[in-house]
Amino acid sequence: EGDRNYLISLFRTIPGFPAKNILFRDFVPVLADARAYALLINALAQALPVSLDDFDYIGGLESRGFLIGAPLALKLGKGFIPFRKAGKLPPEVYHQEYTLEYGKAAIEIEKNTIHKGDRVLIVDDLIATGGTAAAAEDLLKQAGAHVAGYSFVMELDGLPGRRALGDHPISVLMGMP
Ligand code: 5GP
Repeated sequence: EGDRNYLISLFRTIPGFPAKNILFRDFVPVLADARAYALLINALAQALPVSLDDFDYIGGLESRGFLIGAPLALKLGKGFIPFRKAGKLPPEVYHQEYTLEYGKAAIEIEKNTIHKGDRVLIVDDLIATGGTAAAAEDLLKQAGAHVAGYSFVMELDGLPGRRALGDHPISVLMGMP
């Protein structure tokens, strides 16, 4: 309980960033605190939405998903696959576009890191609409690979995030009002 309160005390909410009327949720101060960072990765490992045998890789969504996905993968003895914003990875890549609230975005994975039948646990800091996480599944499908589940640190209450993710197992550490 003390540990959980300590961890939560290092999360920030910044009103009006990156645009007016947005409440930006941020866990970056956790990274600078060795105790809190370890608590966060341990909490994610404890709350896995599927058993260790049910996935082959951790997939982290750029860029905050890298900061939690890579240490989680090391802790669990799994490989790590970066899901990058378009244009950062050398060819050949799978490419998936998706719609944002305003405009479009695209993410990519390297073709030679993922294979047919691979099962990937997708990790990110926050789920809002679920659009980014759903695009990660579409990307894996291009390779004949699968989402094993999703782990998020934060979920924005009142947004339809989970509904965008079908019936995949999901774990969330904190709901944000
Ligand atoms: P979604 O696609 O679910 O609408 O948005 C989730 C993506 O946008 C995640 O990659 C997440 O990191 C980023 N994001 C959206 N809102 C916030 C926020 O308030 N704080 C942070 N840190 N990231 C956000």
